[in-house]
Amino acid sequence: MSQQEQEKSDKQKYDFRKVIEELQEYEGSGTQLVSIYIPEDRLISDVAAHITQEHSEASNIKSKQTRTAVQDALTSLKDRLKYYDVRPPENGMVMFSGAINSGGGQTDMITRVLESPPDPVESFRYHCDSAFLTDPLEHMLADKGLFGLIVLDRREANVGWLKGKRVEPVKSASSLVPGKQRKGGQSAQRFARLRLEAIDNFYQEVAEMANDLFVAKRHEIDGIIVGGPSPTKDEFLDGDYLHHELQDSVLGKFDVSYTDESGLYDLVDAAEDVLAETEVMKDKEQMNEFFKELHDGEKATYGFEQTRRNLIMGSVDRLLISEDLRDDVVTYECSNGHEEREVIDRRKNTSDHECSECGEVVEGDDENREDVIEHLIDIAEQRGTETKFISTDFEKGEQLLTAFGGIAGILRYSTGV
Ligand SMILES: [Zn+2]
Repeated sequence: MSQQEQEKSDKQKYDFRKVIEELQEYEGSGTQLVSIYIPEDRLISDVAAHITQEHSEASNIKSKQTRTAVQDALTSLKDRLKYYDVRPPENGMVMFSGAINSGGGQTDMITRVLESPPDPVESFRYHCDSAFLTDPLEHMLADKGLFGLIVLDRREANVGWLKGKRVEPVKSASSLVPGKQRKGGQSAQRFARLRLEAIDNFYQEVAEMANDLFVAKRHEIDGIIVGGPSPTKDEFLDGDYLHHELQDSVLGKFDVSYTDESGLYDLVDAAEDVLAETEVMKDKEQMNEFFKELHDGEKATYGFEQTRRNLIMGSVDRLLISEDLRDDVVTYECSNGHEEREVIDRRKNTSDHECSECGEVVEGDDENREDVIEHLIDIAEQRGTETKFISTDFEKGEQLLTAFGGIAGILRYSTGV
């Protein structure tokens, strides 16, 4: 992935996460919130036909209120489909619509469309419930590790990927290794030798299968995990069958009972701690570098104003943002042309501001208010700065949020700002 694409996906992921958080807060008073997942190869006309069908079936809903709400949601979605030509955009899209409780017995109709999610929408789903269906999207946004998976015993093997939270089985092999019982008339020695040879051949075959899949991606892979019964997986790893670079990135080996495709899923469960640790590891490295620069170097910046100034100068190499930051920024301009900004909690109302240059009180205006993360990512994108979201699941990640306002950066060079 080029750096440009990486930034695009940072921003896109953030936009998606925001919409998902918003949708999760909504509740319908009945089964009336519609979610539709559309794969990229699905014809828009098919989707429209499906919605028409649901619309006519909704006429059987007994509660008038629910019936009207569902039909309104479907009409709104069908209207939105008119913006699309033959098929949805790349990776498909997800549509949400429904009448949500807005308090005091009132409802509000909302419609949201998310185009081109980070992973392809795999299958068409129509879902009508009292809550929006956001799980599949959340999975796509989960921290994106890329891991190679291998499960094997002496009879069969499977290799595949773990992409984010998604297991993707890719290839399998089965062996001709004879059982432990030799046939009558065969010498015990010869039998044992043939059996060892067959095992060795099978390990080579499994390694080849893994090398074919993983070597080309070895610079992107976060690690390889291997599963199976003992001593098979140990023999396989100790025998150095894998390409040496893959061998070096083995994070661990785990006992799993099955070595068919389901074994790949068992392996991911068994390796849970190692995987979680690896995910947070990258965030830890970023924060360690930040603190090192803060204490002993000159290439750290933090807080909204300082980081923003450095971003505009193009001096920020990596923008570090806390995953739990939920703030807005309001821009104020007094009649003397002084521009100032204030960062406020997203749940608070916009207030008035006293200009620190001339003392004039400027009225707060929601039009000049925006999400602080979007504000910074926009500048970062223009300056070729990478954005990293940092989890709060470790001490220094927590500190980024509590001690630095959730915003920091590692500079390309010292700026003295
Ligand atoms: Zn002023």
